[in-house]
Amino acid sequence: MADTPLVSTKKCPFCQQWSEWQLQPTDRCTHCGQLLDPQAHHRAQQATDATHKKGQFAVRLIQINPEDGAVLRFLKWIVRGGQLLFMALLGLFVWIATAVAA
Ligand SMILES: [Zn+2]
Repeated sequence: MADTPLVSTKKCPFCQQWSEWQLQPTDRCTHCGQLLDPQAHHRAQQATDATHKKGQFAVRLIQINPEDGAVLRFLKWIVRGGQLLFMALLGLFVWIATAVAA
């Protein structure tokens, strides 16, 4: 068996020509320049979007300053508890969504 590079051929869905395909969602037809696998490209794009969205879930926690009064500190602790609960729920939703999608 000779060593063959990981290159395949795929029939372009646009011009119906056989094109070199490196099994990547971003590969384009060598004849017309269109994506060889638009659906795979779409899926890859969605996966990237999902990763970016997950990063936005990081909620900025409220700052509790030592010079704040006892009442203000108490109120801030409640808000902070709510924020933590919110993040925990968000994390749970993401986990459920991932578990359902899998
Ligand atoms: Zn083509």
